[in-house]
Amino acid sequence: MKKHNQKEIDRRRTFGIISHPDAGKTTLTEKLLLFGGAIQMAGAVKARKASRHATSDWMSVEQERGISVTSSVMKFNYRDFDINLLDTPGHQDFSEDTYRVLTAVDSAVMVIDNAKGVETQTRKLMEVCRMRNTPILTFINKLDREGLDPLDILADIEETLQIECAPLSWPIGMGKRFKGTYNLYRKELNLFAAGADRVQDEGVTIRDLSDPRLDELLGIQADDLRADVELLEGAANPFDLEEYLKGNQTPVFFGSAVNNFGVREMLDAFVEVAPAPAPRATETREVSPYEDAFSGFVFKIQANMDPAHRDRIAFLRICSGKFTRGMKVRHHRIGKDISLANATIFMAQDRANVEEAYPGDIIGLHNHGTIKVGDTFTEKEPLKFTGIPSFAPDHFRRVRLKNPLKAKQLQKGLVQLSEEGAVQVFRPLFGSDYILGAVGVLQFDVTMARLKDEYGVDATYEGIDYATARWVECDDRAKLEEFEKRNQGNLALDAEENLTYLASSEWRLNHVAEQWPDIRFLKAREHA
Ligand code: GDP
Repeated sequence: MKKHNQKEIDRRRTFGIISHPDAGKTTLTEKLLLFGGAIQMAGAVKARKASRHATSDWMSVEQERGISVTSSVMKFNYRDFDINLLDTPGHQDFSEDTYRVLTAVDSAVMVIDNAKGVETQTRKLMEVCRMRNTPILTFINKLDREGLDPLDILADIEETLQIECAPLSWPIGMGKRFKGTYNLYRKELNLFAAGADRVQDEGVTIRDLSDPRLDELLGIQADDLRADVELLEGAANPFDLEEYLKGNQTPVFFGSAVNNFGVREMLDAFVEVAPAPAPRATETREVSPYEDAFSGFVFKIQANMDPAHRDRIAFLRICSGKFTRGMKVRHHRIGKDISLANATIFMAQDRANVEEAYPGDIIGLHNHGTIKVGDTFTEKEPLKFTGIPSFAPDHFRRVRLKNPLKAKQLQKGLVQLSEEGAVQVFRPLFGSDYILGAVGVLQFDVTMARLKDEYGVDATYEGIDYATARWVECDDRAKLEEFEKRNQGNLALDAEENLTYLASSEWRLNHVAEQWPDIRFLKAREHA
């Protein structure tokens, strides 16, 4: 093990933000970048958001995707740490990418709107974090507005997300009466002042809450804080680093992202407790980030921002070794050595050619259709990283081809787009039309536009009465055959020929699952 690499690896933090739309992810991202000195980017995050009102028009989809390519990974430095913030797109561009990005992070920050508590998208993203026991730090946002009782929010998180909360800061009032937060482990009072450009919270050390300065600073709310802290001492879980790292407990901070309040407090704790790049599982063995030999896997593929170039960018997470520009690596799925000559590293401000990179870093590879989601690259050893799943789609469309002579091209296009992870394709056991599945509806527009543009196929899609899907498996062949015979109308094969059950409702699915206890209905499936 090279000492130098170890230092580089240990100072890396690779994470994503999970939240429901409008909880404040974009605002928080901007403030984090501000601390990293990437101020220009802060504007760009907003610009991206403004351009989100996508239509099905290809150019605007392209444009939007382009902007999101540059901001898919935001790299910034804070104190001695090298931080990679991976964007988890929300809103209309919510897609499988959103889920898969979480397979490439070492931890996550969860943002909750204090007026809303846990919302649906957060719940879905949390399910994905669960699959790898990703450690999660929580930021409860918008304390400058009226919201739910903080204790109720914690109870909501614990109940809905099945994770223990350990508050590390505590709010004093909210809305018009919001006075700030009390940092429970530093014993420090942070007084709230509104204003977006502040970079420093005003901390006052108050070791003993009976200190009369507290009354001077907080007035009658001083006693509320005393009562809350006393209550917490009896009722709240103390922070336990091990439990956090196992994904069983989440440390909680309160603040107001738009006022840049509580953000630095959260970031300081984050860099200290969040894990550095961890070992990763492959089909054959676990790979330590400290190993000398380079390895990495592709977790996302995205259309290039430049419409003149039809290539796409594959995002690779480095898992071990050191990347140097021009190095030769083996692309195991196709059994070829390739030179990583023009990899791109994503800096917050700009894209730049990368000379070297370490485990935890993300590099972008230009791809002309030879790279799939899930592909592993190593120096020599044939490895295959596991844990890069497909997720059962929630939205479905039937594809109608306008010109029947283009059936071959349609098939080719759909197979390639599904390999890339842009959309899922199902072929019903009965009937000839393809069915597309997606976790976000924008994926359909992008697929149609790309079919036309890249494969010359003019197709439309129409709604279809499915609401959910599950991959089905059964150890008993005869049972599976019987199940197939009885449910033909609802069965389809995905692009990798896996049998899938399509259901018109969650209720229907549960009903069928109850009737067929020997059949496993899987919500997520690993890439072949
Ligand atoms: P995203 O959809 O999660 O990326 O959310 P945004 O960051 O775009 O925020 C959604 C809305 O909430 C915007 O209008 C923000 O200005 C607002 N917002 C974000 N943080 C705060 C906050 O701390 N307090 C208040 N009052 N509004 C906020």
